[in-house]
Amino acid sequence: MEPSKYDRIAYFLAERGEPAYRTRQVYDAVFRGGHGEFADMHPLPQGMRADLATEFGPGILSLKPVTASISQQVNKTLFETADGERVEAVLMRFEAGWTSLCVSTQVGCGLGCTFCATGAVGLRRNLTADEISDQVLAFQLGGETIDSVSFMGMGEALANRASFGAFELLTRDDLFNLGARRLSVSTVGIIPGMKRLTAEFPQINLTFSLHSPFPEQRQELIPVSRRYPLADCLEVLDNHVDVTGRKVYLAYLVMAGVNDSEEHVTGLVDLVKERAHWETRFHVNLVRFNPLGIESPIAYESADESVMRRILARLDGAGVHATIRRSFGVDIDAACGQLYAKYQAHAGRAMRPVSSGR
Ligand code: SF4
Repeated sequence: MEPSKYDRIAYFLAERGEPAYRTRQVYDAVFRGGHGEFADMHPLPQGMRADLATEFGPGILSLKPVTASISQQVNKTLFETADGERVEAVLMRFEAGWTSLCVSTQVGCGLGCTFCATGAVGLRRNLTADEISDQVLAFQLGGETIDSVSFMGMGEALANRASFGAFELLTRDDLFNLGARRLSVSTVGIIPGMKRLTAEFPQINLTFSLHSPFPEQRQELIPVSRRYPLADCLEVLDNHVDVTGRKVYLAYLVMAGVNDSEEHVTGLVDLVKERAHWETRFHVNLVRFNPLGIESPIAYESADESVMRRILARLDGAGVHATIRRSFGVDIDAACGQLYAKYQAHAGRAMRPVSSGR
């Protein structure tokens, strides 16, 4: 993986024979002083500021905000990368005063989940660790305090190795200094990435997108689960719980007439109760499918509120911890893809034809 710009700045200054405190001054100017432009980093000598700007460009950010849609609770910002790609991040402000930022990890996604518009676009490219963490930095430089970061925007975070570079940058105490417990990752079940998360970042919150308790149906909804079968994913989750002692979240996107039957809820309860630590370590997040009026590969429909409440009551009755997630009209936990769907609508680009059989 290519070194982050923070490491490149350290190498650049070290090569010039500068003492290590100069690098710390740059980091402090960005993260404690809120300066995004090298010219404003006044503790540094003028010549050094100019040299940094020549080498790295005038500012520290590799992304440029292009549009923002802001309400009292939500700030959705579309960023442009240096090569003209676009990704979106969403800041949510909770009533208790907590702010959470949902970041993207890929431009598009290659996994083709049938409920997801991003999947229909295909993978345009992975974001770098700098581009992922810059979504956080851009909001911070804009004066926002970010309390937590979820890797649930565009793309499958664990299909991009650079996500691990971003975890490292965000948790480094000389940079973003966010505790790992303030980070959350959602995955459809990329087993090598899940195992790496357990080993390297055991404190990061993990959400597994389940969406069906039945392996065959899940393979229809999430084609990559043919490669990483449900039973294997559950084994990895059980191990994650054993090793980390942390709770795992199971996201269940409720789609009318698809996965909201009594049989499905019974299957979901059984699946959870088969886990060794199900009472304390598994939590189901029910998410209402949000079609957003944009063509997803298959035209699913939202479940009624009464159906959501019925499923919640059944889980409660069985002793399974569960919550209906509400995200200010943006079903962030639902998926990834829906942010990019918005981008497609704005940009007016044609979507790639969807292959059949999914
Ligand atoms: Fe990719 Fe996530 Fe969409 Fe599936 S739901 S296609 S993993 S972005």
